[in-house]
Amino acid sequence: MSDCLFCRIVAGEIPAEVVHEDELTLAFRDINPRADVHLLLIPKQHVASLEELDESHDALVAYMLRLLPRLAREQGLADGFRTIINTGPAGGQVVFHLHMHLLGGPTLPGFG
Ligand code: AMP
Ligand code: ZN
Repeated sequence: MSDCLFCRIVAGEIPAEVVHEDELTLAFRDINPRADVHLLLIPKQHVASLEELDESHDALVAYMLRLLPRLAREQGLADGFRTIINTGPAGGQVVFHLHMHLLGGPTLPGFG
């Protein structure tokens, strides 16, 4: 059994509100949403963070980025959305399995 929380969600060992699944990725609702829509898009394979990426991940990461606007539209975010990737402890990363936050909706706070 993996000790990675998001690997355990991929394995179905921990429940999540999944909104998208395909061969390479999983998207589910953040358990502590900071906006009306707050999804986490993750690769099914374990990658700890952006720091861990090498050339072998290029297609996967590009695929995930292209998936984001599709997921946003499916969530009713017609006018746009925000993507956040926290990297490392100083970047606010708490779960060390790469994830892209997708945030949107009327209560999305200003940024900066
Ligand atoms: P980060 O700070 O970028 O590592 O974000 C980790 C995110 O994972 C936080 O927004 C948490 O609310 C979220 N999270 C933690 N545990 C779960 C879980 N079991 N299901 C869904 N989201 C989770
Ligand atoms: Zn993992």
